[in-house]
Amino acid sequence: MTAADDVVPLTQALDGSPRIGIGVDVHPFEVGRALALAGLSWPGERGLSGHSDGDVVAHAICDALLSAAALGDLGSQFGVDRAEWKDATGIEILTETARRVLGAGWAIGNVAVQLIGERPKLGPRRQEAQTALSRAVGAPVAVSATTTDGLGLTGRGEGLAAIATALLLSR
Ligand code: MG
Repeated sequence: MTAADDVVPLTQALDGSPRIGIGVDVHPFEVGRALALAGLSWPGERGLSGHSDGDVVAHAICDALLSAAALGDLGSQFGVDRAEWKDATGIEILTETARRVLGAGWAIGNVAVQLIGERPKLGPRRQEAQTALSRAVGAPVAVSATTTDGLGLTGRGEGLAAIATALLLSR
């Protein structure tokens, strides 16, 4: 028996064993684009550049879900070479990600995501964002936010970042 024989395949669920995942995303602001963030539109706020709509919150959740299921990441699942996803919204990609995770034999327990940036302020729309994201994922999504006290790219107002964790349960 080799050491590798002792390792449970990443994509194989053990009875009752949960799996956690992590996801991070960062996008720069881009003049002239509308802001799509946490599954909501934000009139009057600067938009984010990037492939698709640049919704860092939705994208971080996607990567956390894919990470937990060991299904790779957004790049490998929805890469820039795949034209059909080029203009997809964060919610559309998140809905499809959840579908693929369920299809791999997992149930989604919950998701936590934190936005990092100076603005927009998420607090007043937290419930709205949680509802939109939870609907797409099909499980509870808790949304929080923080700043970096002026430090780094988010502190200088150059862009937004998000970090997410997801818990999957075997079924
Ligand atoms: Mg992204």
